[in-house]
Amino acid sequence: MTSQRSGRFVAKRNHGMKTRWAPIVKSRPSQGAIPNLEDYAKAWSTFSWDAARRELAGLPGGGGLNIAYEAVDRHVDAGRGGSVALRWLGKDGAIHDYTFGQIKSLTDRFANVLGGLGVRKGDRVFALCGRIPELYVAALGTLKRGAIFCPLFSAFGPEPIRSRLMIGQAKVLVTTESLYRRKVEALRDALPFLERVVVIADAPGGGGSAPGIVDYARTMEEASERFAIAPTAAEDPALLHFTSGTTGFPKGALHVHDAVVAHYATGRLALDMKPGDVFWCTADPGWVTGTSYGIIAPLVNGVMNLVVEAEFDADLWLEILEREGVSVWYTAPTAIRMLVKAGSALVKAHRYPRLRFMGSVGEPLNPEAVVWGQEAFGLPFHDNWWQTETGGIMIANFASMDIRPGSMGRALPGIEAAIVRRTKNGAEEIREPEADGELALRPGWPSMFRAYWNEPERYRKCFAGGFYLTGDLARRDADGYFWFVGRSDDVIKSSGHLIGPFEVESALLEHPAVAEAAAIGLPDPVAGELVKAFVTLKSGFEASPELQLRILGLARSRLGAAVAPKDLEFRSALPRTRSGKIMRRLLKAQALGLPEGDLSTLEAPS
Ligand code: ATP
Ligand code: MG
Repeated sequence: MTSQRSGRFVAKRNHGMKTRWAPIVKSRPSQGAIPNLEDYAKAWSTFSWDAARRELAGLPGGGGLNIAYEAVDRHVDAGRGGSVALRWLGKDGAIHDYTFGQIKSLTDRFANVLGGLGVRKGDRVFALCGRIPELYVAALGTLKRGAIFCPLFSAFGPEPIRSRLMIGQAKVLVTTESLYRRKVEALRDALPFLERVVVIADAPGGGGSAPGIVDYARTMEEASERFAIAPTAAEDPALLHFTSGTTGFPKGALHVHDAVVAHYATGRLALDMKPGDVFWCTADPGWVTGTSYGIIAPLVNGVMNLVVEAEFDADLWLEILEREGVSVWYTAPTAIRMLVKAGSALVKAHRYPRLRFMGSVGEPLNPEAVVWGQEAFGLPFHDNWWQTETGGIMIANFASMDIRPGSMGRALPGIEAAIVRRTKNGAEEIREPEADGELALRPGWPSMFRAYWNEPERYRKCFAGGFYLTGDLARRDADGYFWFVGRSDDVIKSSGHLIGPFEVESALLEHPAVAEAAAIGLPDPVAGELVKAFVTLKSGFEASPELQLRILGLARSRLGAAVAPKDLEFRSALPRTRSGKIMRRLLKAQALGLPEGDLSTLEAPS
């Protein structure tokens, strides 16, 4: 392996710093399982989206494609209706298993319910629920109806709910009794196009019977469980997902039924899903990860999908990993950082004999966290990269590959990823390795967004020079591993250097006291911008001027004076989106006394 060059993480190449990371963490598939993607080069040369599409069934009768058919009914038609598709772990300790056959009848009923409410192909059906079984039924039933499903995160306040329902012109909303009373009822007059709200009772006998309200349990009971899936075509719209709002007001990315081909293939190749797996994606379906991989990918791959209603709690989550025999776990840096905070001793207090693969997405995964995973779980975290717009994983550390800590991995088979520079007339590829540029993808993969809802101009501007431009900066090493530099909006320009916040934050996280870090640029008349850092501390550490100097000193020794932060502020928490991403734009606005911008996805301070 080309370990010497490849093992460096981003900061070293730029600024000649030394890394204390072992250059490569060898990823060893446990239980002797052979990874689905065994040989990267071979997979790349043989893969085609058409071939992946042919592994799915298509709608009976030929011609059409429907996500819900592939995820549910296909298994029933193939005689696997008795296998458990979804295991739901309720907050109160309840455990309910749903077979593919049961989900088929529930979603058929729900599709009939929507039919009774006058929902037609292309209408928008929104959901505002916690991770309860009805949410999964609503998602798949809506897809069967041929309508567009749009999940909203249940912790949103009334204004983010109103604006998204308004933008998407929702015809039907599915929500719970308590969320309806607390957040939706007062908005009804402001949402004239919202014809019906289907209300799920908080407890048996609840629900609702006011005008415009439909009781979920009653209407499901009355509906027939026989339904012929709408004849959707591969290019028919299926899902509307709002982005996380990290860089500004969220955009509504529209996906089509063909996306299921990518959910299927990436579940197999990037997350190594296999028959018999217990798969747990910790993301909420209010974010694209929680739909693509928290609903569709495991079901379409026929593996058991574990749905955990409770929010993060280190003890509980580790207990679930052990007790449920989770074999593939897909989580996010924010959860990993919280586990790091909780300590590896807690992790080691449990045993995970079935755990084979751990993946992470959503934010840069610092090398520290990859190595920590190896130490605490005996398995490294596999970082992968994608966005709401891409609909599925595009770049990944595969089970069969060595991991270069701090790297996002290599492009999926079927995905052509490039580093480009924008030019006056478009964009051109930068072919030499190790150069910073914008991460771009060649359009044509099935889960690519087909529109920003009602924003055609904004959509058009994402494409140039034959590429989709992602808005993220990255570099590619000579072996095709991609390294995240930062979002183009967050990059800091200081004394002629382009500084990615990720490399600064990774250096800060090397200090044993630092739990989380964020770096921003603040205007400076001489340097253009100077780096300012914000950190939170691990428990057991106290903020002090001495500690501040020590952390800054470490950053300077790692990064060099030109790149290291000039100032460091301790915070008890960093502002983050509800999907767990650090909002650097908010830190910057606060530091400069500027308007804070859209805060609809800001996580409420806990
Ligand atoms: P908005 O577009 O509204 O500002 P957002 O980009 O955060 O919000 P998402 O689509 O949920 O919304 O997030 C995708 C972004 O998350 C990517 O463009 C990238 O910046 C970041 N991201 C995702 N995975 C990774 C990763 N593995 N490493 C680094 N960054 C990642
Ligand atoms: Mg984005």
